[in-house]
Amino acid sequence: MVATNAGGIEAFRNGVMRHLILGLEVVLADGSVISDLKKVTKANEGYDVKQLFIGSEGTLGMITKISLSLVPLQEPSNTALISCLSASKAISLFRHLRNHRNLTLLSIEAMWPDYIHTVAKAVSLTNLLKFEQDPDAIYVLVDFCESQKQTDNTLSYFESTLVDLIESEIVTNAIISKNQKERDDMWRIREDSFAVDDLYPHGFWFDMSVPLENLAAYADGLEKRLQRIHGDIRLFLFAHLGDGNFHATITTGYPMLELKDDIHAAVYDGLAEWGGSFSAEHGIGTDKRESLNAYVPEVNRQLMETIKRALDPKNIMNPGKVL
Ligand SMILES: Cc1cc2nc3c(=O)[nH]c(=O)nc-3n(C[C@H](O)[C@H](O)[C@H](O)COP(=O)(O)OP(=O)(O)OC[C@H]3O[C@@H](n4cnc5c(N)ncnc54)[C@H](O)[C@@H]3O)c2cc1C
Repeated sequence: MVATNAGGIEAFRNGVMRHLILGLEVVLADGSVISDLKKVTKANEGYDVKQLFIGSEGTLGMITKISLSLVPLQEPSNTALISCLSASKAISLFRHLRNHRNLTLLSIEAMWPDYIHTVAKAVSLTNLLKFEQDPDAIYVLVDFCESQKQTDNTLSYFESTLVDLIESEIVTNAIISKNQKERDDMWRIREDSFAVDDLYPHGFWFDMSVPLENLAAYADGLEKRLQRIHGDIRLFLFAHLGDGNFHATITTGYPMLELKDDIHAAVYDGLAEWGGSFSAEHGIGTDKRESLNAYVPEVNRQLMETIKRALDPKNIMNPGKVL
């Protein structure tokens, strides 16, 4: 997890691995050991070299010890599936729940229509989506807990917030899970994303991030850009909404290698200018080396090469990955 700088569903509130690591012990390619197992957040002692190894995908050294800052586990008290009629409304929903004084938002995942209807059908859970009739609705899955009960209202804080959001037309409809089985079913639709690849193979996977203020414009524009490339292209899209991290499968269901460059250009269009990333969680490996060459400025890549040569001159640490 350190070598991949793993993130995921709770990253919007706990950070990614990089934010939780206080110290590292690393064995370098020549056998020497860097030991910096601090237990404090504040340590300004020159270059913070441990940061080089976090997310380096095994290409710079072998991580052997970690000093980690832990956060208490918070079990969700409930789960809800909420529909919104646009990406910008989904973002407003996130901001409302995130800033609510008496609610703790634990996770918030958004699923665009083609994704959610395809997966729900594949796992025989379409009945869960019937609370919303609009085929273009975006569904937002949230886990939350309430820090205290509302005393002067029969509704819980979450329920009365939903009522407010429905009245102000940010949210269209919502269901709150009644039991563990319903919670598991809601999460299954989000997590069985591989159903898409089984039904529509030969797709390209993407893992991009955009700042929240640009998320709606990006998501709305992407579908249009893809349609201009080829009418058969389908976009299966979901997002870790809280940190603007999309996962997309883009596919026609049949081999389409000749469209690869155009699809990459459509996905990456605007990301750098907005301060987003073409690889939010999944790193580079071998799959995204081409994208790294195309979208990371040359001066940055040269610095990466310099660091790699200095730490691993014989190229024995996970050779061929990243660079
Ligand atoms: C680049 C990348 C990003 C990922 N991001 C996420 C994410 O954000 N969220 C998520 O849930 N899952 C993510 N994954 C899935 C990931 O496989 C798991 O999160 C987890 O890191 C895998 O642990 P593992 O011990 O099986 O490592 P492996 O799959 O064995 O290794 C993963 C990578 O880490 C390197 N590595 C492993 N051990 C060490 C070590 N001791 N020292 C140095 N390098 C080492 C390997 O060379 C390899 O590049 C990611 C995977 C990769 C490759």
